[in-house]
Amino acid sequence: MSLFSAVELAPRDPILGLNEAFNADPRPTKVNLGVGVYTNEEGKIPLLRAVREAEQARVDQALPRGYLPIEGIAAYDAAVQKLLLGDASPLIAAGRVVTAQALGGTGALKIGADFLKRVNPNAKVAISDPSWENHRALFESAGFEVLAYPYYDAQTHGVNFEAMLAALNSYAAGTIVVLHACCHNPTGVDLSEAQWKQIVEVVKARNLVPFLDIAYQGFGDGIDADAAAVRLFAGAELNVFVSSSFSKSFSLYGERVGALSIIADSKDEATRVLSQLKRVIRTNYSNPPTHGGAIVATVLGTPALRAMWEQELGEMRDRIRAMRGGLVERLKNAGVARDFGFVNAQRGMFSYSGLTSAQVDRLREEFGIYAVGTGRICVAALNTRNLDTVANAIAHVLK
Ligand code: PMP
Repeated sequence: MSLFSAVELAPRDPILGLNEAFNADPRPTKVNLGVGVYTNEEGKIPLLRAVREAEQARVDQALPRGYLPIEGIAAYDAAVQKLLLGDASPLIAAGRVVTAQALGGTGALKIGADFLKRVNPNAKVAISDPSWENHRALFESAGFEVLAYPYYDAQTHGVNFEAMLAALNSYAAGTIVVLHACCHNPTGVDLSEAQWKQIVEVVKARNLVPFLDIAYQGFGDGIDADAAAVRLFAGAELNVFVSSSFSKSFSLYGERVGALSIIADSKDEATRVLSQLKRVIRTNYSNPPTHGGAIVATVLGTPALRAMWEQELGEMRDRIRAMRGGLVERLKNAGVARDFGFVNAQRGMFSYSGLTSAQVDRLREEFGIYAVGTGRICVAALNTRNLDTVANAIAHVLK
C-alpha cells in the first residue's frame, strides 16, 4: 500500500483555477479580470524601465552568487524602512525597527506568523471579512485560530465601521489584528484617516497586536499617502508588524521581493527580536534570494532610477484610476441604471463590483470575461481595448 493512498485531492485555488480556465478559453475577446496582476495598455505585465536599467547594470558587473545574510540585503532592508515610515522616522534613527527581506508579502506574513506563534502561542488572529483569501490559510497553517471582524458593507459599498470597532473592542488582549494598510483586497474600500485614528486607539486601549499588510503601496494615492496608516500605528508607541511587498509596485511578481518589519520598544529589544526572527527564517529557507532584492535596493538607492520608478508607479496608478472612470462612464452610457460611482472611490487594483456569482458565471460563459465569484474584478487588467467589451458585457448581464 502506498504511503499516499489516503491522501485526498486538495481543492483547487479558486483564483489560480480561474486562470487555468482562462488560458484554455479559445475566444479571442476573452478578458481575465480574475487574477491580481497589473497589466498595461497592451494587456501585458510591464517590465519597468527603472528595473531594466538596474538589472542591466547588475548583469554587467557579473557578480558572484554568494549567500545573502539571513535577513537579506542591508541596503534593501534600510530602504524598506524609509518607504514605510518616511525618511525622517525617529524610530529608524533610534534603531527600533527590525526588517528582514522576505519571499514576497506572503513570505513576510509567514515569517511574522511563525515568529508570533513563538512569542504568544495562545493568541488568536483576526482578519477582515472579507480578506485576501490566503490570510486565513496562512495564519491557520502557522497554528492560530483565525477570527474575522466585520469590514465590508455591501449596501453602502463602504466599511461597516461601527461593527468593525465593536469586534475589535471585544477581542482579548494580545489578539493579532491583520489590517490592510491601503488598497484593500478584495474590496478596494479603505478606511479614512479619521477612522484609522480610531482603530489605532482601540488597538492600543485593548492591547491588540497590529499586523499591517501593505501589498500595494503607491497604487492608491501615492507612496507616502498609502503609508499613512503604517505611520499612524508607528507613531502610537505600539509593537507593530508590517508585511510589505514590491510584487506590484515594481512589477516583480515572480522575483518574490517583500519584507517583514517589526517595531520594538528599544534598540536592545530590536536586536533580540531580530535574532529570533533570524532563527525562524533559517529553519524555513535559510536566506532570501538575491536578484529582486538587489534590483529594488539599487533603484531605491540611486536618485535617477528612483525618480524613474516613482514616475512609472504614478503612471500605473493613474492608469488604474482612468480605467475606473472609464468603466463607470461606459456602464452609464450602456444604459445601466445602477450607479457604479462607488468604483471611482475604491483604491488599488480591485473592485468589489456588486455583481452576483450568477452574473459572474454569465460573464464567463457568454462573454469569456473572467472574474472572481464574489464579484471582485481586477480593474488593473482593464485597458482601452477591452473596456467597451467588458462594460457592454456587464450591462448585458445586469439587464
Ligand atoms: N497581501 C495582500 C493583501 C495581497 O493582495 C497579496 C498579493 N496578492 C499579498 C499579500 C502577497 O503578495 P506577494 O505576491 O508579494 O506575496
